[in-house]
Amino acid sequence: MQFNRLRLKGFKSFVDPTELVVERGMTGIVGPNGCGKSNLVEALRWVMGETSAKRMRGGEMDDVIFAGSQRRPAHNIAEVAVHLDNADRTAPAQFNDLDELDIVRRIEREKGSTYRVNGKETRARDVQLLFADQATGAGSTALVSQGRIGAIINAKPSDRRSLLEEAAGISGLHSRRHEAELR
Ligand code: ATP
Ligand code: MG
Repeated sequence: MQFNRLRLKGFKSFVDPTELVVERGMTGIVGPNGCGKSNLVEALRWVMGETSAKRMRGGEMDDVIFAGSQRRPAHNIAEVAVHLDNADRTAPAQFNDLDELDIVRRIEREKGSTYRVNGKETRARDVQLLFADQATGAGSTALVSQGRIGAIINAKPSDRRSLLEEAAGISGLHSRRHEAELR
């Protein structure tokens, strides 16, 4: 699968609808301090199913919703959508008949998040697994945030093994086994 668009609305500093088109090859985002570069990367992590408010640099998940500025009132809803091309048919079985996947996560203040894939309400778990199977996802090494390299160098062997498992593309399987054992 291939990312090709990210859309944000009411997410952190992106109060107005904003679309980021990701072309093939390398994309760079440049801008002055505080303009929202990290917020864009966090939007991508969030729509893939991030569950930790702390990793989103907030105290609670509602902190991703536009909090208002001197000139504009706060919003009550934030939405991030990611558009994926599945022409190579690498999406997990339940989504594999789709040519394109439009994955939307929406949060409403005090009501939590909902997910939709091509308009159909979907469990958070299924969205998280969809990305985990692609060796990407909210917690993956595909997104390297500040301080992460040092943390990997100093990690315990068991934590480092989970990085290797992710690189091998088997973290989705582990996660499903864990779920099955809990049942
Ligand atoms: P740097 O170059 O310093 O890393 P950056 O471009 O990565 O900067 P970000 O950290 O993405 O900048 O953006 C920070 C800005 O986003 C701050 O001005 C902060 O006030 C704003 N921001 C974060 N959360 C919200 C929110 N919920 N509502 C409104 N603005 C927010
Ligand atoms: Mg930054």
